[in-house]
Amino acid sequence: MRTTLLIHPDELSERWIRRASSLGYTGIALHPVGGPAAADALKDLLSKLETDDFRHLIDLARDSGLTVEYELHAAGFLYPRELFGQKPESFRMNAEGVRTSDWNFCFSDPGAMDLVLRRAKELAKKLYRSEKRFYFWADDARDCFCRCPACAGLTPSDQNLMLANALCASIREVIPDACVAYLAYADTMETPKSVRPAEGVFLEYAPFDRDMHKPVREQQKSKAGDIRELLGFFGMENAKVLDYWMDNSYFSGWQKPPKKYTPDIEVIRSDLDFYRSLGFRSVSSFACYLGEDYVSLYGEPEIPDLGAL
Ligand SMILES: [Zn+2]
Repeated sequence: MRTTLLIHPDELSERWIRRASSLGYTGIALHPVGGPAAADALKDLLSKLETDDFRHLIDLARDSGLTVEYELHAAGFLYPRELFGQKPESFRMNAEGVRTSDWNFCFSDPGAMDLVLRRAKELAKKLYRSEKRFYFWADDARDCFCRCPACAGLTPSDQNLMLANALCASIREVIPDACVAYLAYADTMETPKSVRPAEGVFLEYAPFDRDMHKPVREQQKSKAGDIRELLGFFGMENAKVLDYWMDNSYFSGWQKPPKKYTPDIEVIRSDLDFYRSLGFRSVSSFACYLGEDYVSLYGEPEIPDLGAL
């Protein structure tokens, strides 16, 4: 079983790397914050990746036997919102029929996609010592996809898959065998209807709307999606769960200082049983707001070993 923890770049530390390694995790993933500041957070990560200090941390993780990945709400970085003045027609149309640069862009616009794919290739090459699995997600919001005439017949999930398919084909031009995640999350939890996954695109199941204190198998499809249908559609290869068991940013209401974190071991154990029974061989959890500031307030957090539960 592959087990990975998602950590904010500014919380990555030698302590976190030794903790993940000693608990038996197989990898870490760096996750800049999402929401409206996602593009700036990704730029900040890229700046960090140019520094020796940060690269030493990545080297330490790799030398400790951990894989390193990068999980990014990348759309706002790949298609900069500053282009709105020059090319408003390449941005998304909202429910009122108005072009807006608030989230994402129009994935049916060839000019926008051309720039996005060129930037995605450059971005993939900048992710220091990354695995060949790439997570260049759409923006982090609801009702954030395009409703222009060209996109109107496409569900948010269709649009999300169009982007993942195009990203995968492009990144493979510079990194052979690269794979790209389709993030099933919020408005993209439904199975796509009009678009099929391309070679190399895999399911990343992130049930954000679940009740975090009730086993996921007991939850309504309106909250947790239809996981069996999603797996049937995308297939098992590289299929991955991204859950929230250790997401202390969620449990802290995304407001620092972090709150004290207590894992819900019974729910985690039940969920792991469920995910394993479905055939998942890769599970991960956000583990944000558990950095040095957390340790200063509360001491070492209780982090369950997903591989042993
Ligand atoms: Zn559109």
